[in-house]
Amino acid sequence: MKKIPVAILGATGSVGQKFIELLSNHPWFEIAELAASERSAGKKYKNATKWVMPLKLNDEIGNLKVKLCKPNLEAKLIFSALDSSVAGEIETDFAQNGYFVISNSKNHRQDADVPLIIPEVNHEHLKLIENKNGAIVTNPNCSTIGLTLAIKPLFDSFGIEMMNVVTMQAISGGGYPGVPSMDILGNVVPFINGEEEKMITEPLKILGKLNNNKIEHADIKISAQCNRVPVIDGHLETVQIKFKNKPQIDEIINVWRKFKSLPQELSLPSAPIQPICYFNEDHLPQPRLNSNLENGMAVSVGRLRDCEIFDYKFIVLSHNTVRGAAGGTLLAAELMKANGYLDGIL
Ligand code: NAP
Repeated sequence: MKKIPVAILGATGSVGQKFIELLSNHPWFEIAELAASERSAGKKYKNATKWVMPLKLNDEIGNLKVKLCKPNLEAKLIFSALDSSVAGEIETDFAQNGYFVISNSKNHRQDADVPLIIPEVNHEHLKLIENKNGAIVTNPNCSTIGLTLAIKPLFDSFGIEMMNVVTMQAISGGGYPGVPSMDILGNVVPFINGEEEKMITEPLKILGKLNNNKIEHADIKISAQCNRVPVIDGHLETVQIKFKNKPQIDEIINVWRKFKSLPQELSLPSAPIQPICYFNEDHLPQPRLNSNLENGMAVSVGRLRDCEIFDYKFIVLSHNTVRGAAGGTLLAAELMKANGYLDGIL
């Protein structure tokens, strides 16, 4: 099969580098263009970025010339890892010029005609871009992805009335170089700008029903508190949950263990075999031990127990730059390709 050429906007940043790593041996997609700001444009990629991924940067990619983020790139499928201060207009410009943009930025997530996709959770929302010759699809906020994937089978089986979530988010979530070391070493920063608002609104769109080409948002009361902790990769979240129909503990574990969705049925290249992995051990999951489960694409849950205020409480862990950003975007692109949404640009 001829591979589909892709371009990465914001290729020099933390998520951009993760895209390059994940695309290095991808069976369907190949990197054709890299783009970033005027600071980087015109330079060879290896000179424009400070490469911090474990995988060695290969010469072919390292020698690619970085372009400006203008809709004249030789690839109609765009992965955007742009800073949100500029992503909004640039992504609109590409979509209006016939490109399919899948974005990690917050800017278009709540637009009525833009799907906010977690492939296992709401693949049917992609219908919003059916028959379009250019469109924006968005990846949710990194903490929202772990939380919403973990609660999806619970929401479907038992209904959810309300949730309280507290996050412990890794430093890589803030881009490179991120929070100054003097602020984060041996410390916790109890504020991440805009994060709590995203966590209380995005799950409602993602879990919403598509009706007459409009998404009716789910009705769940959510409270969120977000913290930055001195961990490199992997967002850990403690969740308290009240159901509409309170299940038994073993029923919850059972629906988590059985949960599979369209990406698994289609055996998409980046799909985890088991999207949600339940740990019985009291001390798991932990960011350093479990973030890379199924190449960083599975969500780990554990410590499910009775809650003194809500019905139950538990822990969720997900890899923020893989499942929470580049890997999630790649899986969305694979789903779009497998379901024919990219036929117009191939
Ligand atoms: P980052 O490391 O700060 O990288 C930002 C990128 O945007 C760089 O490539 C930068 O290029 C580019 N950029 C900045 N100003 C620009 C301009 N005026 N024109 C064109 N390009 C410009 O950020 P990141 O962590 O990779 O995050 C990227 C996006 O993904 C953000 O919207 C973020 O909120 C979102 N996100 C991040 C994570 C995560 O875990 N890190 C997870 C989910 C979502 P230069 O190098 O040329 O300046």
